[in-house]
Amino acid sequence: MIRGFFLFCVFGCYLFADAHIFLYHRFDDARYPSTNTPNSALRKQFEFLKENNYTVVPLSAIADKLNQNETLPDKWVALTIDDGYRSFLNALPIFDEFGYAFTMFVYVEATEKKYPDFLTWEELKKLENHNGTLAFHSYSHSHQTKQSEKALREDFEKGLGLYEKMLGNKSAFYSYPYGEFNDEVQKIAKDFGFTAILNQNMGVISKASDVYDLPRFALTGSTNIKPLVKYENLEAEWIEPKDYPAKGNITKVEARINTNVTKAQLYITDLGWRDVKVKEGLISYKINEKLKKQRVRMILKIGNKVSTKILVKD
Ligand SMILES: [Zn+2]
Repeated sequence: MIRGFFLFCVFGCYLFADAHIFLYHRFDDARYPSTNTPNSALRKQFEFLKENNYTVVPLSAIADKLNQNETLPDKWVALTIDDGYRSFLNALPIFDEFGYAFTMFVYVEATEKKYPDFLTWEELKKLENHNGTLAFHSYSHSHQTKQSEKALREDFEKGLGLYEKMLGNKSAFYSYPYGEFNDEVQKIAKDFGFTAILNQNMGVISKASDVYDLPRFALTGSTNIKPLVKYENLEAEWIEPKDYPAKGNITKVEARINTNVTKAQLYITDLGWRDVKVKEGLISYKINEKLKKQRVRMILKIGNKVSTKILVKD
């Protein structure tokens, strides 16, 4: 069996090819270092992708493969930008120079109310004449796990109504404000008919990925993407906790993973990394800690394979 798997791998490991989605916010705007990518860093990242034969595809290419249950080709990368900041115009010539497709997620209220730092409807629409796709990033950019179902549905309806009126088409994709969601928020978002939904968790996309739960690596500063594209998708089912635990007390982490190992690494925001045992694909780790932040990520890592689960206080 092991030998068979090995031989299979020699000839066919490309079958497990994984795609990476990167997320940017601001470009060449030194006022906001925590969300900014300087043009010099962007150019280095693009040169790395080009020199190492990565194919930058439109997000729709990845979504289509997943929706058709097809294997992803090797070395696919998609580039996304959240919020619609005006500083994207600083970077657009570099995207054009490399011919790289991108998806811009629009914070509708900011554009509609002409907040000074944001692109106008006209400027957004023009991005479609480059290699750009526009998509929806909520009306009010709220912390959606804290909103009532009614308020959240109204936010989608108002935002999508304006989006479609001003841009003349429907958004195929959705990305959560702040990358924050839980099962309820995801369920409501799915009702609005997107072909893919994106979060902001560290992770990679393979054929096994859920098209409504696509992870993205957020890039800021001069992040080197070489180690990031080496990550692969860890097929994991997060069992417990399903949601942010009451009073922040976390007592157990349980997950099922699709790989035959006895040890994994578990990371929890503020609590750091620890080794955890895996027994017949099941991690059942007792812990007694208090979560400090309102937004906590749990990451499972085995070698270069990763899976992330986010817990957001509601
Ligand atoms: Zn945002």
